[in-house]
Amino acid sequence: MKKRIWSKAVSIFTAILLVVGLVPSTTVAVMAAETNIVYVGGVALSGSSDNIAYATTNKSGELITEGATADNYNIKWDGSTLTLHDATIQKELYASDLPLSNIAGAAIGVINQSGDAGLTVQLEGNNKIEGVSTGIHVRSSGGNAALNITGNGTLVVNSNYLTIQVTSIGGNAALSIENTKVTATSSYSNVVTVQSGNSENSSASVTVDGGSLTATAPSNNVSGIRFVFGSGGSGSGTPNLIVSGNATVRANGSAGGITNNSSTGVQYGTGSSTTGGIVWNGKDGTVYGKVELQEDLEIGEGESLTIEDGASLNTGSHEAIVNGGTLNGEDKITGTVKYAPSITTEFLPEGKVNEEYATSLSANGSEPITWNVSDGNLPTGLSLSTNGKITGIPTVRGNYVFTVTASNGVESDSKSFSISVVDPIYSIQNSGDISFADALEGYTPEVKTIMITNDGNQPITLDQPSSTSFDVGTLSKTELNVGETAEFTVQPKNGLLAGSYEEDIVITGTNNGKSVSTTVNVKFNVKHNAVKVERKDPTCTEAGNIEYWYCETCGKYFQDETLTKELKQEETIVPATGHNLTKVDEKKPTVDAAGNVEYWYCEVCNKYFSDEKAKHEITLEDTIIAKLPKFVSGANQEWTKGSKDGLTFKIDTDIKEFKKVLVDGKELKDTDYDIKSGSTILTLKPSFLDTLSAGKHKIRFEFNTGSVEAYFTVKDKENSSQTESANTGVQNKYGLWIVLLLVAAGGLAGFGILSKRRKNHK
Ligand SMILES: [Zn+2]
Ligand SMILES: [Zn+2]
Repeated sequence: MKKRIWSKAVSIFTAILLVVGLVPSTTVAVMAAETNIVYVGGVALSGSSDNIAYATTNKSGELITEGATADNYNIKWDGSTLTLHDATIQKELYASDLPLSNIAGAAIGVINQSGDAGLTVQLEGNNKIEGVSTGIHVRSSGGNAALNITGNGTLVVNSNYLTIQVTSIGGNAALSIENTKVTATSSYSNVVTVQSGNSENSSASVTVDGGSLTATAPSNNVSGIRFVFGSGGSGSGTPNLIVSGNATVRANGSAGGITNNSSTGVQYGTGSSTTGGIVWNGKDGTVYGKVELQEDLEIGEGESLTIEDGASLNTGSHEAIVNGGTLNGEDKITGTVKYAPSITTEFLPEGKVNEEYATSLSANGSEPITWNVSDGNLPTGLSLSTNGKITGIPTVRGNYVFTVTASNGVESDSKSFSISVVDPIYSIQNSGDISFADALEGYTPEVKTIMITNDGNQPITLDQPSSTSFDVGTLSKTELNVGETAEFTVQPKNGLLAGSYEEDIVITGTNNGKSVSTTVNVKFNVKHNAVKVERKDPTCTEAGNIEYWYCETCGKYFQDETLTKELKQEETIVPATGHNLTKVDEKKPTVDAAGNVEYWYCEVCNKYFSDEKAKHEITLEDTIIAKLPKFVSGANQEWTKGSKDGLTFKIDTDIKEFKKVLVDGKELKDTDYDIKSGSTILTLKPSFLDTLSAGKHKIRFEFNTGSVEAYFTVKDKENSSQTESANTGVQNKYGLWIVLLLVAAGGLAGFGILSKRRKNHK
């Protein structure tokens, strides 16, 4: 009874610990002491410290008690601890063998209908449970349920349904694994199930302290580890998953690695331990507490490992290997982290027959990474060096598919590639022929751009193009990779004269002694800057011109508007016609009519010339010789001394022609006479006449047009007749008549004498 009361007290204490998630495994072991019947392989083993039960397992996984001893057993039961020693169990408990059927189907089962149910399994060597409905089932209908797996051995459980099941209908349920390696798989259902009562105080816990628990569920929407509260769909209570002692928990399931039906989520932690463990919930691993690896840790494709704040990972003598997965919190790792290689090269460039080929494969991952071709073949002539360089000269066309593998001692990564080997094509093309707009001489050049594109599959080094009629600019680039374009400007040279300019500009390039070229035809028409000159008729003396067109810029002459028929300048000239001269003979002037000088007259231009060669032009006026002066009145006048009136002479000649007047050969002063126009009217003043002696005097008028003379007589006052007779000396009766006749004759003779021909004026 004493023992019983003590056990009750422990149970209550344990229940409290379970609620707060702190279940010392030793406590569970003590709990199990009360349950002294365990069902193993369908056999009820009754044992105690005084009466230890032994059994062996055969090849069929059957339990055999006969012949089993302390020196020869696979199963040992002392009433509190079930020891498995290289045991294989393939038989399960049938319902008909049980007082209640709740643990039917289990390979190892413990049930307590009223109190706590507990079982400690000690593992020695490698143990296996398979081919059964349930692996291990510990069940309490009235208290807490606890399963503690410990020891240095291993346990593999492969069952059809629940693999490890700890069930408390109303209390707490706890699974504890300590320093051992448990691997569990199920064919149809959740793998590890810890089920407690449905209340806020209920606790369901999985504790792994050292060692590992791996629970792998099938694909039918079940879990690796499942916490259940109550028997309904949902419940209250706290699910705990506690790792310590560098333990590892891996739970995989299509419904989630670790699931529960509680309104409270799974509480992960290390319990009271400062050393923690790693929990993999599906592909996501988390490090809790301080963990030192017990074996290499690989983070595979799609996996991630997170080291939480406050946690740390020491790789110890092992390695953390990132092999396609993600490591979060690498800064919280001490020790060795290696990254598996991951080939990052996407594709490989194509090769050209007989052309040098060189490329490098690349991969992420810890160095050194070595490369090799693991399947297929590189193009003939190429090789892959261990440092990832593919080099050589391919010799045969084709598409080569192969697989390369990158290895770094951590892992290796393989990837399939292809290299197509083609014939090299050296080619460039241009952007098209160019026609500049027609321009007039003196134009401002238009600028155009020519583009050169590498349309082959080889890089080309371009040469700077040149031209004779056009100015070409510098190439924008000379090294032209495949598909690249270079450009340069082209423009007509300044000052090109009229004409058509057409040139093939050849752009050349080379690569490895191979030459390429492309030709751009460039056209430019220049026209004359021509102005039409209207026809101008020639004159007698001045040349005219035909209708023509003249280009100021180049100084050329054309006879047609289209500027195709060029002329010499002299051909545009229509020479002067020369005068059509008529000679007019000299004609002497008379007193009644003007005469003219000898001259030549051109009817065409109406001009007059003094010479036959028309060198000296004169005016019509110049040709005229004025008619000779003619006495109108005043000849043979008599003047008596003392007379107050003078003697007036009128001559039919313009006063403008008057030069001078002489009496008896002596020129008169202009004070001696008055002169006025009317042709010419000249009056000798009495003052002058008084100075003359009585007698006959000769007066002479000189004009530019000639001279006329006449006589007049000065008489004394008293005896004018004496004076006359003395002068004449005629005394006979005919004397007066003779004198009169003589005078008359003299008067007549006075006309025309000493007439003067006018000089020609130039
Ligand atoms: Zn011109
Ligand atoms: Zn003329």
